[in-house]
Amino acid sequence: MEEREKFCMEQLSSGEALFTQGPEGYDMAAICFYKALKVYPAPAELVMVYQKTIPPEVFTLVMGMLSMDVQKKQEKYYTVFPPKEMNVKIEELAEGVTAEGQKVVRRGLVATKDFTAGETIYSETPIISSLEPSLEGNDFCHYCLKQIEESAKVRCATCSKVVFCSETCEKAATTEFHAVLCTKDSEDAHNPERALSDYTKETNNKYPEMIAKFLVRMVHEETLNSGEEYNLFDHIERLRFLEVRPSAAEEKEIALLKLALGSKIPGIEEFINEERYLTLKGKLLYNAYGVSTSLDASRSVEPSPEQYRSVHDAPVVGAGFYRVTSYVSHSCEPNTKVAFLEHTNNMSVVATRDIKAGEELHVGFIDQKNGTLSTEQRRQELFQHYRFKCMCPRCETTE
Ligand SMILES: [Zn+2]
Ligand SMILES: [Zn+2]
Ligand SMILES: [Zn+2]
Repeated sequence: MEEREKFCMEQLSSGEALFTQGPEGYDMAAICFYKALKVYPAPAELVMVYQKTIPPEVFTLVMGMLSMDVQKKQEKYYTVFPPKEMNVKIEELAEGVTAEGQKVVRRGLVATKDFTAGETIYSETPIISSLEPSLEGNDFCHYCLKQIEESAKVRCATCSKVVFCSETCEKAATTEFHAVLCTKDSEDAHNPERALSDYTKETNNKYPEMIAKFLVRMVHEETLNSGEEYNLFDHIERLRFLEVRPSAAEEKEIALLKLALGSKIPGIEEFINEERYLTLKGKLLYNAYGVSTSLDASRSVEPSPEQYRSVHDAPVVGAGFYRVTSYVSHSCEPNTKVAFLEHTNNMSVVATRDIKAGEELHVGFIDQKNGTLSTEQRRQELFQHYRFKCMCPRCETTE
């Protein structure tokens, strides 16, 4: 550790000495900054510092070297992810041919062994999840989204806005994101954490807060330096997303996030630029799943206006963003469904008919109203929400 730190400091000061010599020192300076970055325990933070402190020409060079690294890492990604024990892999599948005769491929999730109907293929916990704002602080856990018995309720030590089902969830939430986002019951409406929490309640929108949680968790994982080859950003970077056009609402959300996180995470204000924020929001809109953990099937929940993949008979209490299940594509005749068997946000993907190794997995993204929607209606709804024309066997044969 000490040696790494010493090496890092040396590289940083050589880099600085080199760029102060002017443009002829830029190449060598960039190499020094790149080397420092490779040993620094929280590289994302250091990049943010670079962005503010080193000349833009040098910064561009450092980013270029990093992107070469990224390219190498990217090529390797699908050979190690998802882990083998999940019984699935991500494959490039032929989607058709363009008018110019070019092959179109997309990534889909494929089973690596046979399953019979009713079997669980794999389970995974989300990168991040959030309750519907109207349920927050009542009888659902802020961390795992489980419904809580009054007697088991654990409160946040510093606010009355959220509750947990256990000490374990309270601890996990606090270390991963809540310590940064807790309002501490501030009475000042301009308090940045409270402003974000108030916005969530007032607009009934949970995705801005989910993005805040995601960013805090990402930085937290970086500082843990766990030796994981791929960080949270690597995992979501490859996922599809909807294009979100900037509006006054997004501008306000970006400003709220910058205030809430800015004083605690150095450099995050530069990191949350408009493009990145809109992309993150677009990733949530395309990939998030509705989570239904309620023990009471008749529970009525005020839904947020934000879309999620919804395939449940039970009431949806929130949404989750999942690493692997984001790759499952839609079919109007799916061979799997998602289930919350433990009544928490731990999602299981369950075969709804026999599946052979090598077969692609599908879920339904939309509620088909017990099969009463026509092909035209299904296609319209999918296009409106997910912007693709459904070419599943059911849509193709009943046209
Ligand atoms: Zn919990
Ligand atoms: Zn709190
Ligand atoms: Zn279809």
